[in-house]
Amino acid sequence: MHSLTKTALSFNGIGRRCVALNRFSEARIICRGLTCAAEHGEHENELYDVIISGGGMVGTAMACSLGLDPNLEGKKILLLEAGNKKVMDKVPDAYGTRVSSISPGSATLLSGVGAWDHIMNMRCKPYQKMQVWDACSDALITFDKENLQDELAYIVENNIIVAALTKQLENLSDQVRVQYKSKVVKYIWPKSHQVADAIPWVQVTLANGQTLQTKLLIGADGPNSMVRREAGIPTVKWNYDQSAVVAVLHLSEPTENNVAWQRFLPTGPIAMLPLSDTESSLVWSTSHRHAEELLQLDEESFVDSINTAFWSNENHSELVETAGSLFRTALSVLMPSAGSARQLPPSVAGIGPKSRVMFPLGMGHASEYIRHRVALIGDAAHRVHPLAGQGANLGFGDVACLTQLLSQAAFNGKDLEMEILSNAENT
Ligand SMILES: Cc1cc2nc3c(=O)[nH]c(=O)nc-3n(C[C@H](O)[C@H](O)[C@H](O)COP(=O)(O)OP(=O)(O)OC[C@H]3O[C@@H](n4cnc5c(N)ncnc54)[C@H](O)[C@@H]3O)c2cc1C
Repeated sequence: MHSLTKTALSFNGIGRRCVALNRFSEARIICRGLTCAAEHGEHENELYDVIISGGGMVGTAMACSLGLDPNLEGKKILLLEAGNKKVMDKVPDAYGTRVSSISPGSATLLSGVGAWDHIMNMRCKPYQKMQVWDACSDALITFDKENLQDELAYIVENNIIVAALTKQLENLSDQVRVQYKSKVVKYIWPKSHQVADAIPWVQVTLANGQTLQTKLLIGADGPNSMVRREAGIPTVKWNYDQSAVVAVLHLSEPTENNVAWQRFLPTGPIAMLPLSDTESSLVWSTSHRHAEELLQLDEESFVDSINTAFWSNENHSELVETAGSLFRTALSVLMPSAGSARQLPPSVAGIGPKSRVMFPLGMGHASEYIRHRVALIGDAAHRVHPLAGQGANLGFGDVACLTQLLSQAAFNGKDLEMEILSNAENT
């Protein structure tokens, strides 16, 4: 048997005995609860079945997904988010600078938790094709579904995804409690061996002094996850030595705008993602220095740089082209249908007000997603380069997978944590 499973099994026995036998520990919990009761009311030191720490796109989706699962009915679930509640009574005219390419699988997950209809009613741009090409040669690849019938993916503003999930959470207030402006500052982990006065659950302390307890903590607190750090989960990470410059782009003329464009420049990929017939979103990954220079440019020069990056052949290299064309000839023998018609991207005429921002890019991967009474999801577990547009999609995959495991555990009448540990053993 996997050592984690053994630990969890034995711990649960010990945990129950601790709760039953150790009156000192109980007294301590109750006493601490009373001291702060005036400040935090009835929720001080309350024990939850699941606490989700971090209410970004992934944590909020997790909260909705657990709240809707019939097998988890009656479980006490809490979502803690350091920031404000993100509601959107009216969709702003200006597009947000942070957008995500949402795969059909993620759209299905968001639909399953009731958020997709809100997204469609707010704002969302489906696209049918993706063209990726090289700046140093004629190499090109396109992705689409058969006959361009179906959507390849959807570009959605991150704020809209969170607002849609938040709206849905409001409908689940009987199943999921949510606390905004609630930054976690400390976690105390249960001991996995027999300690006389040990509390068997994870203790969570908020910046306002409130303490809570949970049988399972889900860390959805982003790439710098405090849950991951405090749990001591080793993480492989490095910086790409690149930043992404993002902006909202106004196109020179209205187009169907149903293609996502990405060109590989020697400094990194530049992508233009459709938002509407007249607007697109820019994600330009490049060196930090170049990113800073791009931010300093006046609007006209910035727009010129974008058009040059998509259109110019100044980086074409004969050597790369010769090697590439040999490879393509060989490929066309093996796969006669290989080779795609090249399309020209739209040209850019301007940018949205105050829409130019840069983000340093990094990679991170936790060595374990599951530990004793802890699970990591989203960027807390894995952070990837945005060039493939998969970060949030991977996070939504975590939500689907973890919900299924917890639902199954509840259905089988098992300890939620024990079930995910034993499943981790089998995968
Ligand atoms: C330029 C760029 C473009 C991208 N494009 C795409 C794309 O096209 N498609 C795609 O799938 N992905 C994309 N990504 C990746 C995607 O943005 C991330 O994967 C996603 O935002 C991760 O969501 P998350 O909820 O896991 O983490 P976060 O968005 O980081 O959310 C974490 C939340 O936890 C809260 N929090 C943190 N600490 C605490 C604490 N101590 N207590 C309480 N709350 C806390 C924070 O306030 C925050 O709300 C892109 C990323 C970048 C940088």
